[in-house]
Amino acid sequence: MELLPTIAAVRNYVAAARHRGLTIGLVPTMGYLHEGHLSLARAARQQNDVVIMSIFVNPTQFGPNEDFARYPRDLERDRELAAGAGVDAVFAPAVAEMYPAGYATYVHVEGLTEVLCGASRPGHFRGVTTVVSKLFNIVQPDRAYFGQKDYQQALVIKKMVRDLNFPVEIITIPTVREADGLALSSRNKYLTPEQRRSALSLHRALNLGSELIKAGEREAAAVRRAMEKEITAWPETRIDYIAISDAGTLKPLERIAGRVLLALAVWVGNTRLIDNVVLEVSD
Ligand code: AMP
Repeated sequence: MELLPTIAAVRNYVAAARHRGLTIGLVPTMGYLHEGHLSLARAARQQNDVVIMSIFVNPTQFGPNEDFARYPRDLERDRELAAGAGVDAVFAPAVAEMYPAGYATYVHVEGLTEVLCGASRPGHFRGVTTVVSKLFNIVQPDRAYFGQKDYQQALVIKKMVRDLNFPVEIITIPTVREADGLALSSRNKYLTPEQRRSALSLHRALNLGSELIKAGEREAAAVRRAMEKEITAWPETRIDYIAISDAGTLKPLERIAGRVLLALAVWVGNTRLIDNVVLEVSD
């Protein structure tokens, strides 16, 4: 497996692959890999001749009081895991390679980025769309892979790709969970054993909400109240948001109908966790 530390090295690697007529799949990550990341890599492996994974903790998507400095990093371990999932090359640039002194250009998607995680993390999606645009220009992949775990992120990126005519197909992959239902996340590493138990409240609340809707509840406020109650019953939890929204527009729903997104962000101690589920409500 190749380690590509610079943009120039990626361009050379990609030019050689293109010269041979090979297709390229890109898996953007912030590293500290787990099975969620690896399921994206395996999907890319199946659908492309060459798989490139980027590993870059992107400073522009973190707020000033967020966890950029302490975000977990382990490039050696990541290289082994990536190679095991069929990744051909890892692009792991330094911050100064991506954002040299005087860097001044940002990509901003309007409309989908002001709600949910965008409301609690101002500037977050601007950082995401900026770095993903850069990665698309550097790698020029045929396909790029994103997790459903970050539902809003995938939606925002699809919108950006349409609006800016990036010639790349965006593929989303279902959320990978622990046996008890907790969504895998690099940030789960921050949790104490007790917090790990409380973290399960996200999955339990989503299940509860889904069950209520399947049983016929159509009033979003009632579903939200039940989910709130489930979460706050667990120690050290604090709800950032619970959204019951149209899955395409992210507009909040009062009455539950159509493709519905249940999404939530919950603080467990000092760790902010997110999870979501999408339901098709036909009546
Ligand atoms: P991150 O390193 O957290 O920025 O995530 C990199 C990519 O992996 C994003 O597209 C995430 O949505 C995806 N991802 C993270 N966790 C999971 C998971 N549990 N299941 C599926 N995809 C995931």
